[in-house]
Amino acid sequence: MEMPEQPRSRRQTRAAILTHLLQSGGSFRPPLAKAVRLSEASLSRILFDLKAEGLIEEVRRPAPYVGGPTGLVSLDGSVALAALELNSQWLTVGVGSLSGELHYTERVPLPRKPTIETVGRAFREALTLLRDWTRRRRIAPAQIGITIPGLGRLSVSGNPIIPCDLGHISGMLGEMFANVPVEFTNSVVAHATFHRCRTENYPFSGAHLFVFVGQGVAGTWMDDPIEEDTLQPVELGHMVFGTDGPRCRCGHHGCVEAYTSLPALAELLGVSEAELLQLGNEWVSTIPIPARVRQELRRRLFRLGLAIGNTLNVKPCNGVAISGWPSLLAEDDRKAVVEGIDACLLGGRKLAQLSLAFVPPSSGNDPQAALAFAAFCLASRGGMPAASTEAA
Ligand SMILES: [Zn+2]
Repeated sequence: MEMPEQPRSRRQTRAAILTHLLQSGGSFRPPLAKAVRLSEASLSRILFDLKAEGLIEEVRRPAPYVGGPTGLVSLDGSVALAALELNSQWLTVGVGSLSGELHYTERVPLPRKPTIETVGRAFREALTLLRDWTRRRRIAPAQIGITIPGLGRLSVSGNPIIPCDLGHISGMLGEMFANVPVEFTNSVVAHATFHRCRTENYPFSGAHLFVFVGQGVAGTWMDDPIEEDTLQPVELGHMVFGTDGPRCRCGHHGCVEAYTSLPALAELLGVSEAELLQLGNEWVSTIPIPARVRQELRRRLFRLGLAIGNTLNVKPCNGVAISGWPSLLAEDDRKAVVEGIDACLLGGRKLAQLSLAFVPPSSGNDPQAALAFAAFCLASRGGMPAASTEAA
């Protein structure tokens, strides 16, 4: 039986196919047709175009069901994407493929106290590196994705996390990459995209809340990729739990971020943030945690749970994915997050039919998150030019 086709524009239909391929890593034709609600004949016509444009490739493989062999459709690995990922210590620039390989990466360090000027200079240096690298290889990026911590939190130039002037940076991009579509996003949105598109067996396919606990603490509402506004950042990290608490980088005191971010964790463990970053995921088995510290750690995780529960009270949702350092902990420690959610969520987790999953941390993998975001941008405009007029 075939599903009725939904009235969609050509762009929307192409976007549905490309985002499905991005999130699944590849698909045979019959399940792809079903997932994007198209007849196999309609799908066939669109795949023909996408292949001709070099956006997808198809390898004939024996299919794991009756009726095979058929083609395994995936995104074309020769499409290049560029990305810039800003954090408090450096700006990473990179080039990767639509299918997820990393071809080039370089880090431009930032001074200890970055200013609009020094961040602007770092962007100029990174963009020059990118232009030179791509020119030498005659590579034209199809999309540039740029991630900035705290973007959208306040007016752009007043970003309290890392000062930067997006107007000025956009100007440089216009000079150096005149015809390449560019999108800026909040870092948490990029990390959410990375997990959704590049994590094997990602636990959710429908709408859910993605929570990222890294240098900052924030969330993203993740929706069906066919909908508009699929990715909405949510600033749950700045929920205040006591105005006499530690000072947060946003300027307030006692935010959940000030208790549970990586810098806060480093302080609690008695190591520097640089040491903690150096250890990567190994910190959890390397740094001894005395009982008293573990107790405080759990108290903080409980607060993180409260912040998540509060967020779900405001906008109910059946799934939460948590990524970041809490995912590395043993289940006994992580239980504190779950208890926090339970304590706060009206009716508790069971009544709310909430499923919760911890996914691996993605801090320190820059610029993979920004590259995944660039891939998502290209896919969600159907691989078509940014300002193209709609032809249904
Ligand atoms: Zn704050």
